[in-house]
Amino acid sequence: MKEGVILKALSGFYTVADGEEACVCKARGRFRREQIVPLVGDCVEYSAAGDGTGVLENVLPRRNTFVRPPVANLDRLVIITSAVIPVTDPYLVDRMTAIAALNDCEAIIVVNKCDIARGDSLYDIYSSAGFLTIRTSAATGEGIDALFNAVAGKVCAFTGNSGVGKSSILNALEPSFGLQVGDVSQKLGRGRHTTRHVELYKLRNGALIADTPGFSAFDTDMMRLDDEEQLPYLFQEFAPYLGHCRFTDCAHVSEPGCAVLEAVANGLLHPSRHESYERLYELAKQKNDWEK
Ligand code: GDP
Ligand code: ZN
Repeated sequence: MKEGVILKALSGFYTVADGEEACVCKARGRFRREQIVPLVGDCVEYSAAGDGTGVLENVLPRRNTFVRPPVANLDRLVIITSAVIPVTDPYLVDRMTAIAALNDCEAIIVVNKCDIARGDSLYDIYSSAGFLTIRTSAATGEGIDALFNAVAGKVCAFTGNSGVGKSSILNALEPSFGLQVGDVSQKLGRGRHTTRHVELYKLRNGALIADTPGFSAFDTDMMRLDDEEQLPYLFQEFAPYLGHCRFTDCAHVSEPGCAVLEAVANGLLHPSRHESYERLYELAKQKNDWEK
């Protein structure tokens, strides 16, 4: 039996790669009976017939699972932003970083199109919150090496709203990638109603990159940000202040003696991040009050 990663899942056929060789597998019948749905990114055990086909035997335990796109074992969520049109709303980024944190997945922030605008505000928000934040320009190549190194050997998804430069950055990372990305974008049509599949593309440094159409794709995962008590822990830079508020059930929104609010007031936490926290907190609370 061999071990590999599912790179592509389409109509019950799974393309599994183990190093260089790819093998197209069908799943064992018991997968259906046991309601195991193999996902792109899954580490699997499989038997190869020797003719390029094979059978999936086992799905190994997952580190995390994303719903849309359906992908497992993401190590890095690369969030592409831009300070020129389309200007990225930090709230979108903060939703993504929270979803990444919920899934034990590291978020990397990329400020693209820095040849036109340096994006100081975005850069400050995310570097001060402790994220690896990289300024890039797909046009001049600035920062592309740094990003290349940050994703080496990892399973990654690139996300960001349409037009921010995802395809351009992927092409800059891997010139041979160009065709593939173009194909995928065409297939995706960037349309809401287009049926789509995820696929992992391999860079020459071993990174496996999933193509994802944009922020809206993660709406289903957003539903999982519904636990208001867990929310503060999804803002990694809040950690040093949690447990230091006057009230043990402090929501860090308007309570007196709140260590988080104090840190915001003292410039130790970025107000933009706290604002997003408040918005997500109110959403989660509303939802839970409604359900109670
Ligand atoms: P996607 O929708 O996120 O995949 O974005 P694209 O890669 O298709 O890029 C959208 C537009 O922005 C295209 O016209 C690109 O040429 C342009 N673009 C992408 N990255 C940069 C950049 O770093 N600098 C400049 N000046 N333009 C860029
Ligand atoms: Zn507090």
